[in-house]
Amino acid sequence: LPSTAPLRARAEIDLAALRANVRTLRAHAPGAALMAVVKSEAYGHGALPCARAAVAAGAGWLGTATPEEALALRGAAGIPADVRIMCWLWTPGGPWREAIEADLDVSVSGMWALREVTEAARRAGRPARVQLKADTGLGRNGCQPGDDWAELVAEAARAEGEGLVRVTGLWSHFACADEPGHPSIALQLGRFREMVSYAQGEGLSPEVRHIANSPATLTLPEAHFDLVRTGIALYGISPSPEIGTPADFGLRPVMTLSASLALVKHVPGGHGVSYGHRYTTAGETTLGLVPLGYADGIPRHASGTGPVLIGGKWRTVAGRIAMDQFVVDLGGDEPPPGSEAVLFGPGDRGEPTAEDWAQAAGTIAYEIVTRIGTRVPRVYV
Ligand code: PLP
Repeated sequence: LPSTAPLRARAEIDLAALRANVRTLRAHAPGAALMAVVKSEAYGHGALPCARAAVAAGAGWLGTATPEEALALRGAAGIPADVRIMCWLWTPGGPWREAIEADLDVSVSGMWALREVTEAARRAGRPARVQLKADTGLGRNGCQPGDDWAELVAEAARAEGEGLVRVTGLWSHFACADEPGHPSIALQLGRFREMVSYAQGEGLSPEVRHIANSPATLTLPEAHFDLVRTGIALYGISPSPEIGTPADFGLRPVMTLSASLALVKHVPGGHGVSYGHRYTTAGETTLGLVPLGYADGIPRHASGTGPVLIGGKWRTVAGRIAMDQFVVDLGGDEPPPGSEAVLFGPGDRGEPTAEDWAQAAGTIAYEIVTRIGTRVPRVYV
């Protein structure tokens, strides 16, 4: 397509806003390094451009879930070796050797992973950078406190002594940091401190100890330790309405999702709209067709509730969201086909936000931006 072709739909990614968010987050956690979490295509914003922008703005670390995502950053994105890249979601038989050779920091939650990574280090002829993960109460990945932790720490110390690993980090993850005052927060912090001091007492000397995600970075200074791992806040979205709006923390939303109206037409009253006729026009009106659907990540659960800004007015999805399109009742207005329909953005122009769509769909804003599909071009500004 010629670059001037009007787009059916676009997700505009404001990299200046992302860079500003990195600086703002560093100011929220002044004593800590910042890891930009760019897993899952940077929460739908595009991993490579966002990773580069975050590094340019002062992120010393990048974080991903899978090793494949991390390897792609070192490879295709050309992120230099002085920027640390950590990945944490490993399964048996994973690409340990490639990770070692790409200077990744790899997370180890248990004995099977430690065995595999030390074996790969032996073959690679160089030590692996290993970060031991503690389950301090999330109940997901990570090593249990007590005997399991003692065994993992002892084995890691032994492997370090043999020159097969370097334990660069001790870390954990919160379950309820987005619910200020939740009793599990203090409990997890206490357990984290104990597990870290036990490991240090056994001779490990990690470069970084870390547990804070975005909500903890924004609201819990005692959880900052040496490094904060921020995902959602980097993209200018609040972790939850309960802790505040992005503006409360000086953050600016990065993604604006819009589409060109594909059709505007007059219909009589009593006209059923979209599959299942879950909406019927109350009287004579105009309908606008928005060429985005659940295949593009627009949540079908927002049928009948999702807000869209068209011609300066909020409209609501009429009837069901289909795979590729949905309809809005324009109430007699007649914007020309091609008119802009803004689903969400920073809100400056009066458009809804990703948080509004989350509420409309009964989900979290993380899911709204992360699910925007590959059929929607990202336009970097
Ligand atoms: N750390 C880990 C291990 C994660 O899985 C995630 C994302 O869920 C984050 C940090 C970033 O979380 P948030 O987007 O809330 O900042």
